[in-house]
Amino acid sequence: MPERMLKFLDHEQEMPVLRPVGERLGDFDEIYRRWAGDKAAAQAARCSQCGIPFCQIHCPLQNNIPDWLKLAAEERLEEAYDLASTTNTFPEICGRICPQDRLCEGNCVIEKDFGAVTIGAVERHITELAFERPQSIAIVGAGPGGLAAADLLRRLGYQIHIYDRYDRVGGLLVSGIPNFKLEKEIVARREQLLRQAGVHFHLEFEVGRDCSLADLRAGHAAVLIATGVYRGRDIALPGAGLGGIRMAMDYLVAANRVGFAETVAEFDSGELDARDKHVVVVGGGDTAMDCVRTAVRQGARSVSCLYRRDRDNMPGSFREVAHGEAEGVAFVWLSAPEAFLGEARVAQVRARKMRLGMPDQSGRQSPEPIEDAAFTLPCDLAVKALGFDPEDVPALFAAPELAVTRWGTIRIDYDSKMTNLPGVFAAGDIVRGASLVVWAIRDGLDAARQMHAYVQGGTASEDMPLAEAS
Ligand code: FAD
Ligand code: SF4
Ligand code: SF4
Repeated sequence: MPERMLKFLDHEQEMPVLRPVGERLGDFDEIYRRWAGDKAAAQAARCSQCGIPFCQIHCPLQNNIPDWLKLAAEERLEEAYDLASTTNTFPEICGRICPQDRLCEGNCVIEKDFGAVTIGAVERHITELAFERPQSIAIVGAGPGGLAAADLLRRLGYQIHIYDRYDRVGGLLVSGIPNFKLEKEIVARREQLLRQAGVHFHLEFEVGRDCSLADLRAGHAAVLIATGVYRGRDIALPGAGLGGIRMAMDYLVAANRVGFAETVAEFDSGELDARDKHVVVVGGGDTAMDCVRTAVRQGARSVSCLYRRDRDNMPGSFREVAHGEAEGVAFVWLSAPEAFLGEARVAQVRARKMRLGMPDQSGRQSPEPIEDAAFTLPCDLAVKALGFDPEDVPALFAAPELAVTRWGTIRIDYDSKMTNLPGVFAAGDIVRGASLVVWAIRDGLDAARQMHAYVQGGTASEDMPLAEAS
């Protein structure tokens, strides 16, 4: 880049235009107009980038004046503002009412022969522009991944807009995970802090229905997709079409809504209420654990958990199993459902005992059915908790060009956390597949750092701590 600085011979000192005396005496408005066009850049370029900057020494805040003047001269105004605001909380105020002729400008080395660099006016200008063009970030998904990213990005000064199709903030923390593991107030307290910090939530706003990904990209400096995975895996068994066989999320969402004192028709009708029912939950992960423990609390007659591997090989937490056992859940290990039996509604589940055979490609022992080992369990409500797959996000978002993996999770670059679409990032379950809250938080923070680097046109710092960003 050609040398932009030291232009004090080319450009005379110029302040923003003063309103005529007659005009300004008629009101109390500020007497300077705004700089138009690239005036600020030209004025900033007059700085001679002194090795010992007397302007900085004489600024009570020791503002890094030469550096932000250089950035302003290069028209990197957002970076100039970032730098100016690291030492000055209110640069737009100081830029207006500091006695610059006694402080920074009065000590500018070119003051005597050429007239000082108009430091205060540049400081005011870059800050006003920053206020006019606050960079906004769109986050799709108010789960832990999206919220973690929002928290870091808002500390870095971005305006955050979170879009979520659900009517509450928290993602699975509120829609899936029951109160007995995490009370809703704990999540609501975090939501409140984020709202107070200026994060904008757009709830019941579904990307794909209410706007496209392209709309979000056009309206924001960067976009984060943190939509989680919600397509419940199914099992094609005889009798699968009978009444009373439901997906885990239907069951848990209804229970959580009832916990919020909402009216849920399918709960009131008994369809999604386990009271007085024999409940069979199929699966061995966290979701299955939450279903069985919800059912015992709803007053089920019996609650069984069918899992095709043994206790040591189940994906859910052992602690949850122990809690479930203590609460009255019957864990039926090494058992897989074979058919749902009944007339119009399910009345029994026929299951088969399994044994663990040879390890598969993943190293886990594969369950194999044992002949002549079928048994039945009474069942008025069967809940399928077999894991989750991603929805078809490119189709949903009207963005067929968005790259996904063969599992349908969003493909991101490992280092930049960016998808194949510039400025579009992704984090959480929609990248990893169904995982843990703590991983969603980690992904959200990593993505936020990379989004900041992207928006600023630089590179992210691995060790940008939360505290430094506040
Ligand atoms: P989510 O929490 O799923 O949030 C995604 C958000 O995106 C949702 O609010 C959704 O409404 C929104 N969304 C989706 N599509 C759109 C769209 N098109 N437009 C707008 N918004 C959209 N993990 C643990 O660590 N410990 C546990 O005990 C635990 N228990 C669990 C129990 C259950 C029942 C389940 C299902 C999961 C559990 N997990 C647990 C896993 C954990 O909840 C997830 O890994 C975590 O919530 C993922 O966070 P996320 O931000 O990626 O997605
Ligand atoms: Fe420092 Fe005030 Fe000059 Fe700004 S205007 S550089 S705050 S002395
Ligand atoms: Fe630039 Fe003047 Fe500061 Fe020197 S003293 S660095 S010329 S503003």
